[in-house]
Amino acid sequence: MSRFREELKVIPRAAWTTTFVLWTIGALGIGLFWYKGFGPTTDLPFLLLIPVVPLLILSVYVPLVGYVYGDARRRCMRTALLWTLLAIFIPNGIGILLYFVLRDPIPTPCPSCGAANKPGLAFCPYCGTAIRRSCLQCHCALEETWKNCAHCGQQLI
Ligand SMILES: [Zn+2]
Ligand SMILES: [Zn+2]
Repeated sequence: MSRFREELKVIPRAAWTTTFVLWTIGALGIGLFWYKGFGPTTDLPFLLLIPVVPLLILSVYVPLVGYVYGDARRRCMRTALLWTLLAIFIPNGIGILLYFVLRDPIPTPCPSCGAANKPGLAFCPYCGTAIRRSCLQCHCALEETWKNCAHCGQQLI
């Protein structure tokens, strides 16, 4: 559950504010609708269903759009704003889905200087600290499970 909470922190406050404002407007709208249109004697479950369902969808959708923005920022993606717009304007959440398929991996901070680096680098491009195990022959980054270097074929012990 803590991981879910961590992810929730990615959603910017503006997204929550927007959700809250939309709810307020929605609630006011419902109130006005009831007051003007139908008396309280009209079928209540039916009256509740019409505005509440879109509001519930909105309160999932808006934080999700916020998540796309916050997550793209966290991943140092220069296209964060573009993805947010796509998430808003491509209907049926397809923009959001596309984002989850195409997003960049989370950058790994350098243990020495803290620079946000692309994952998979052997050395930090800013301070030169070794980040991952690297091949003794070609100095390329190695995956933990490799028995041979995939870049030069050097056998690894
Ligand atoms: Zn560094
Ligand atoms: Zn190698």
